[in-house]
This record gives sequence, C-alpha cells and structure tokens, in this order.
Amino acid sequence: MNTSQEIEHVQCLIIGSGPAGYTAAIYAARADLKPVLYTGMEAGGQLTQTTDVDNFPGYPNGIMGPEMMEDFRKQAERFGSDIRFGYVSSVDFSATPHKVVVDEIKTITADTVIISTGATAKWLGLPSEQHYNGFGVSACAVCDGFFFKNQDVAIVGAGDTAAEEATYLAKLCKKVYMLVRRDEFRASKAMVHRVLNTPNIEVIYNSEAKEVLGNGKNVTGLKILNNKTGEEKDLEVEGFFVAIGHKPNTDIFKGWLEMDDTGYLKTIPGTTKTNIEGVFAAGDVQDHYYRQAVTAAGSGCMAALDAERYLAAKEHEVKAVS
Ligand code: NDP
Repeated sequence: MNTSQEIEHVQCLIIGSGPAGYTAAIYAARADLKPVLYTGMEAGGQLTQTTDVDNFPGYPNGIMGPEMMEDFRKQAERFGSDIRFGYVSSVDFSATPHKVVVDEIKTITADTVIISTGATAKWLGLPSEQHYNGFGVSACAVCDGFFFKNQDVAIVGAGDTAAEEATYLAKLCKKVYMLVRRDEFRASKAMVHRVLNTPNIEVIYNSEAKEVLGNGKNVTGLKILNNKTGEEKDLEVEGFFVAIGHKPNTDIFKGWLEMDDTGYLKTIPGTTKTNIEGVFAAGDVQDHYYRQAVTAAGSGCMAALDAERYLAAKEHEVKAVS
C-alpha cells in the first residue's frame, strides 16, 4: 500500500463502469450511500467496444454500445453518483474500513466496496481481427448472432463457450464453420455431442484462423491453416466469432478474495457477497456463464441492495450496543 497522506473516506466505493457498476451506482445513490465510482481505464467497459446493442430491454430500436453506456453514466450522475476516471491499483481488505488505492497515489477508505471490473474477451491477436471488430468480427454470439441471420459464419474455439455459441449460431445462420485448433474439443462431452449432432455446423479440426478477409468495410471471409498439413484455404463467411475464453479482471484482488480456478470472484449463491464482509461483486467479474449486459445490470442492482442492507445492519448493531 502507498503511504500517501491523501486519504478520503466513502460509504460506498464502486470499482468499474460497465452495466454492473453504473447500475450499482444508480441504486446506491438513490439509497443515499453517496457512491464514488472509479471507471477504470476503459470507461464504460466492454460495451464501448461494440456497435449495435439490440438485446437490452428498453431500447426498442437498439442502440450503439458507447451511447448506451453514456446513458447509464448520465442516469447514475442524475442521482448524485460521483463518477471519476481512474483505476484501482491495489486493495487492502484486512480490516474495515477497506482500503483501496487509486492510480497508485490516492488512498480511499470505504465502508462497502462493490467490484464490477468485468472480464476481457481474449482475442487471437490478428490485425485484421481488430480491424473488423464490430463489422463482422465479434466475441459474443448472443449479442451479435442476429445480424448474421441466414448467412454463413465461422467460430473459433473448442471450449464450452464456443460449443454453446456454435449451437446458438446454428439456429440463426445457414452454416457455421467451427475451427478447433487441436484434433479434439476441450468442451464437455455433452456439449460436443450437441455440436456434432447439429447438421449445419461443420467442425474443422487442426485448423487456425490466419487472417480475417474483408472488403475494407465488412468481413467477407476467413483464411485458415491446417496446422497438420500446412494447407491454407479461404472460407466464405460474413461473420467471424472468437470464443477462446475470457479473462476476469481480478488480478488486484488475488490473495484477498476467493476465486475459482480461472480467476472469477466467488460470491455466496443468490447474493453478491464475497468472502470479505462489506465487499460485493457484480457483473462479469463473478459470472463466466451468462455474461450479458442485462444480467450484469441486474447483479449491480443486487450489489447495491446488499451493500445498503449490510450498512443498515451495522448501524443497527452500533445503536444496540450504545
Ligand atoms: P476455455 O478456456 O474452457 O476454452 C477456450 C478454448 O479456446 C479452448 O478450446 C482453446 O483451445 C481455445 N483457444 C484458446 N486460444 C486459442 C487460439 N489462440 N486459437 C484457437 N483456439 C484457442 O474457455 P470457455 O470460455 O469455453 O469456458 C470458460 C469456463 O466456463 C470453462 O470452465 C467452461 O467449462 C465454463 N463454461 C461452462 C458452460 C456450461 O456449463 N454450459 C458454458 C460456457 C462456459 P485448446 O482446447 O486447444 O486449449
């Protein structure tokens, strides 16, 4: 921890500015917890990297991801949330109030902390993949599959997420090419069985995506390599889905909070409570399964209610003792 003298105390500190963080801020502000929210380096979170969002209730005509996150922020500010740009560089949850260091210089003590730092999709790292990200390349089939109705698409990955997304896409798309880099899946047997029994999914084993092909504006195909034979070929597809896993943004909480094997924060089922009293987790940082804006927002609401009830119970205890 740093030794800076600049220490500020808050009732409710929210870390992260995706749908979970901003929703927590809306609820916490309306409960008069005077929340302070630090946005992190990518204010607005994963949705600022997407184009159209068509599945968030309340936007009948859809909305652009960055615009929706602006709406979230404005709504949180309307009730007095203090939204600040900055990233949390370390935490100390050894005692209450909890200590959090921002930008390595400023220490905040907080009665409650809501963690909504999200998860980051892993990408292959191809320049063409980033060039067409949002224009045919996506890391979320549930979000973007609809745009490829009756078209041909490809998906890379062989875990449960890829298997689930491939079967989801198969219901919408004409054909789904599934690129598996080894000669076997990582996904569970049941999921593999489902993939192999879906007629419009073609699994291509030992294959790697070499380049996303396009016309400058949209994806038109994919260059793939057979890593056994060295043979290259082009697939004609309009969409390319990358499903090779996510990394939860939890490095700074290692040693403090309980996590699963892949680094997702563990919460008490049915709540947002972590193993540390007064520290709550909401959104993708504690959910590798649903990973939707609307589910993240829902758990942000839960975290604010959990924080409020925790503070109310503490206050009650203090009154009972005095
Ligand atoms: P995983 O880490 O399980 O799988 C990632 C997949 O991507 C692997 O098959 C891996 O290949 C492949 N991959 C990684 N990097 C590359 C690359 N550069 N090029 C090509 N392929 C690559 O991630 P998931 O998101 O699938 O799952 C995360 C966790 O969530 C797992 O524990 C999973 O079981 C769980 N989950 C469960 C679900 C369910 O129960 N229905 C649904 C979704 C997720 P390789 O196998 O060769 O390493």
